[in-house]
This record gives sequence, structure tokens and C-alpha cells, in this order.
Amino acid sequence: MSLESLGWGPDLGHAFSLLLSQSSLPLVPGRVVRQERGLLTVQTSERAWLARPSGRLLHHATDAEALPTIGDWVALLLPSGEGEALLHSLLPRRGVLMRRGAGGEHEGQLIAANLDVVFLVTGLDGNYNPRRIERALTVAWNSGAEPVVVLSKADLHEDVSARVLEVQSLSPGVPVLALSAQQGTGLEALRERLPAGKTGALLGSSGVGKSTLVNRLLEEARLATQPVLPDDKGRHTTTHRELFVLPHGGLLIDGPGMRELGLWGEEDGLDQAFADILTLAADCRFSDCTHQREPGCAVRTAVDTGALTRERLKSFEKLQREQAYHARQVSSAGKREHKRIERNLTREVRQHLRAKRRGD
Ligand code: GDP
Ligand code: ZN
Repeated sequence: MSLESLGWGPDLGHAFSLLLSQSSLPLVPGRVVRQERGLLTVQTSERAWLARPSGRLLHHATDAEALPTIGDWVALLLPSGEGEALLHSLLPRRGVLMRRGAGGEHEGQLIAANLDVVFLVTGLDGNYNPRRIERALTVAWNSGAEPVVVLSKADLHEDVSARVLEVQSLSPGVPVLALSAQQGTGLEALRERLPAGKTGALLGSSGVGKSTLVNRLLEEARLATQPVLPDDKGRHTTTHRELFVLPHGGLLIDGPGMRELGLWGEEDGLDQAFADILTLAADCRFSDCTHQREPGCAVRTAVDTGALTRERLKSFEKLQREQAYHARQVSSAGKREHKRIERNLTREVRQHLRAKRRGD
């Protein structure tokens, strides 16, 4: 797979040459094409590698935004034999899409990097809400991507062109498409907005038809990873994100974990970002604290003092249970590897946060 087909271009080539000239390491460029929480897969021009961020990269990361995410272009240090690659550094991003965190603007959670186009999907059925579209447009602009409004379920509305005009007047200059994923109409216009080598993502509330649309687009699509990694069939997680190469050459980042994002207003799960709890947990006495009954648990202390609501902890625990469930689903070979890498990563992130707190 050529890097160009994954969106590589002259700017990245330039940035990478500069990096090489400043480093004595045999670095190799690649793109993060799969992310399952901290577990990253990077595609180079040769093959896919499991990769984890170097200690140096973690150390210099001042916030979540500085950590690698799906869509990032990175410089890898390859292992001499098999094994995981070290993610040495990030190449400059064109932009990132963040989920707004509970702690406000600066506590966001990274969703994807280097998006060229963000498709804001809203249904032409009961879901339609112009103010929501306006809010989502702001988020899209902030991500550095070009927003495109997609009015889905066009087959359910009598006057589609009136709605298209209405949305166009809300957002001058923003392309507005109407389509029916179910009937397969209007898809060509969407493909045209995502030319070969450009990276897009579909965002929108639950039920607007994103999965149906993705399935349409993915017909015959290839995964951007070549099958070097352990077989992971049947791995249906709620958290992973993946970069797909569509048959026409456009690239789509998708995954059940990234579609809703709380981009559409408070009602859609802003409470799903748990940066605050993870930060608290860095102060728990035991590094494997489950925040149930352990002594010295900073999370329970925060609940007791009212700094953290019980409800919020509950939703966090729910997510943890879902993740534990998914971990059991993972095939055993992949699972051992996954666990090991996750453990290392979690440890490094914790150490990093602790060190930050001590002020070194
Ligand atoms: P998601 O939650 O955004 O991924 O939405 P889904 O793709 O799961 O679709 C939600 C529901 O809308 C399902 O029952 C779909 O069959 C239906 N749906 C999706 N696309 C269309 C469409 O273009 N027209 C109609 N009438 N229904 C659709
Ligand atoms: Zn704890």
C-alpha cells in the first residue's frame, strides 16, 4: 500500500525529511489506521505494525491532544525482528477532532487527526434540527476539516430541495447533500466530496443512518491494514476506530466509538469523556485500583467530597464493564498481546501523570 494512497503528500514529505535530518535514528513514516483505546496500528509503505508511543513522546505530551490518535502521521522506530514498533514522534497535523471533555475546553478527548472532510449527518425524519446542524458546523470547522452537511433518509421527506435550501441558508458556503442510504441515491455526490487520498468521517446522532451509509460506502472496501496482525475476526468493540480505503480511493475513518461524540449538544453524551476520572485515578494508592473499596482511592474520595458525582462514576463504571466485556471477546493470541501493551501503556500514562503532578 503506497503512503500516497493513505493521503501522504509533499508537506508531510518535507516535515519527515526535516525530522530525519535532526535525528540519528532510522525512522520510518506511517499512518495510524486503527486505534483501540491506547492500542495503535500503524501502516507503513511495507506493512502494518502494532505501535506504542515512546516514553519521550508521552513525557512531552502536556495534554491529551499531544498523544497519537487515528489518522495521525507518525515516525516509527521498527523492532529488529517481530514485535511492536515504537512511535517516536507525530508529524505535523492539519487538525484534530476533539470530543468536548467534562473539564471544559481544555479537557477534550481526541477523536481523530488529519480529517479533510467531516460529514455531518442528520436525518430528514424526526431527527432534523437546524440548530444542531449549526453547532456541529462549529465543531467541524474547529477540527480543520471541511464540513459537509448530509441530509439522510431523503426517501422519507416530501420536499427535500426545500430542506436543502434551508440548510444552505444557515451555512453559506457549506455543501449540503441529500441522500438515501437505504435506496442508494445521492451517494455519488458524497463520494465526490471525498476524492482519492482525502480523509473523511461521518458524525451524527444515533439513528440518523450512519451505519447504513457506511455499509453502502464500504461495499468492497479494504481495510487500511494489511493482514499481518493476529487474526481478529469477531472483534466487535464499542471503542475501536479504523481507517478504510473506499473503492473509489477516498479514505473513511469510522468506528462505533466515534460517531456521536457529543458533538450534537448536551443530550448526546458529553458525559462520555472521562478525562476527569482518569486524572483522579492517577492519585489512587494502588495503580490497579478498581475504585470499589481500596484504601487511598482518590476517586471515591472525590465522590465523598462531592467533587465527582456518583452518577458520573456510575457511567464510567458502565463503560469499563463494556470494555471488560469486549476484552473477553478478543481472540486469545491477540488478547495476550493487547493486554500486555495496554498494561504498559496504562502504566506509562499513570507514571507520566504522577510525574507531572510532582512538577518534574
Ligand atoms: P446510525 O445509528 O446513525 O448508525 O443509524 P442506522 O444506520 O443504524 O439507521 C437507523 C435506522 O434508520 C435503521 O432502521 C435504518 O434502516 C434506517 N435508515 C437508515 N438509512 C435510511 C434511509 O436512507 N432511509 C430510510 N427510510 N431509513 C433509513
Ligand atoms: Zn481508586
